[in-house]
Amino acid sequence: MQHFGPFELLVIQPTPFCNIDCRYCYLPDRTRKGLIDHSTVNAIFTKAFASRHCARSICVVWHAGEPLVAPRDLYSYAFARCESLRPPDVNVTQYIQTNGTLIDPDWCTLFKEANVRIGISLDGPKELHDLNRRTRSSCGTFDMVMKGVELLQRNDIEFSALAVVTSETLTDARAFHDFFVSRGIMSIALNIEEIEHQHTTSTLTAPTSVRRFHGFITELYELSQASGLRVREFERARNSIRYFLQTGNGPCISPFYPLSIDYLGNFTVFAPELLGVKHARYGSFALGNVNDDDLDDALDSAAFHAINRDIALGMDMCRANCGYFGVCGGGSPSNKLFENGRLDSMETLYCLLHIKTLVPVVSRGLVVGAQTGGQ
Ligand code: SF4
Repeated sequence: MQHFGPFELLVIQPTPFCNIDCRYCYLPDRTRKGLIDHSTVNAIFTKAFASRHCARSICVVWHAGEPLVAPRDLYSYAFARCESLRPPDVNVTQYIQTNGTLIDPDWCTLFKEANVRIGISLDGPKELHDLNRRTRSSCGTFDMVMKGVELLQRNDIEFSALAVVTSETLTDARAFHDFFVSRGIMSIALNIEEIEHQHTTSTLTAPTSVRRFHGFITELYELSQASGLRVREFERARNSIRYFLQTGNGPCISPFYPLSIDYLGNFTVFAPELLGVKHARYGSFALGNVNDDDLDDALDSAAFHAINRDIALGMDMCRANCGYFGVCGGGSPSNKLFENGRLDSMETLYCLLHIKTLVPVVSRGLVVGAQTGGQ
């Protein structure tokens, strides 16, 4: 029997609007100025905590659109409602994933008061960042983002940088690594430029990308081992390898990882990128609306069963045919749909780079570390 959840990650879109216009952005509604209202916020936390799939410890991530274009009092209200509706045995950590251009001292006060963890989108050195992360009038945003970074650092607010890796990133791993370390940013995540939604191409599809990506990742891995720079993808790969070696099991990809809700209250139990997608075979990936529906009832719907069946078929294909299944678990359904046009399919650009190129680099590092008494 398939395992459902529990959901440990709740992604909430406070607004679809974004104040900038990155070249690789996949969000179709980023010019739409909608805002989540208080009754939807209430319904989200009421329904989430009432679900039998709610984990005992959850991360709430405000994301998908620029969260800081929403007013600060929206978050004061949401954090207070979350706290008052939260069952005593459920822990909640609030995260905001921001482009960093709107951080000011008042936001820092709110982040500190509510103990919010911050993810800030920063692609690396100025020339690299400004290639893609641009305003609607096509100006680079690096200087604005770095003001935000400095404010976070001055206020001792914990954050991690999220860097989109494009073909240009691969040209100089050392410059990429040294930029973050020299700015005192010691925790980063890599978001490999993917084909998603409106972003229908990637600079990483070129035939030379795998070789270049391998060189970049190998050098970044070695540099980060020496400097102590934490790279989320290396840590995840390490954990997956160790878990597989200890248990013989791969990561469990199941519905409810994560639970994703848009600013109108529409929700899906699949990846957040799928929430706005309409598909000839499945109709909508939105399985209901928290203002009208209970989350758990979604698992009885025909749409859920059709989507879930095809995701499971895709995972079965991976299990039968791919040597990386043990550390991958069958990949990201949204990548399969956007790249292959089907959920019941296998290899994507994401797994070619993220799994089949990166995992062997980390795996070799673990073996060398064990031989030399290190990690
Ligand atoms: S690496 Fe790709 S093909 Fe292999 S299990 Fe993962 S998603 Fe499937």
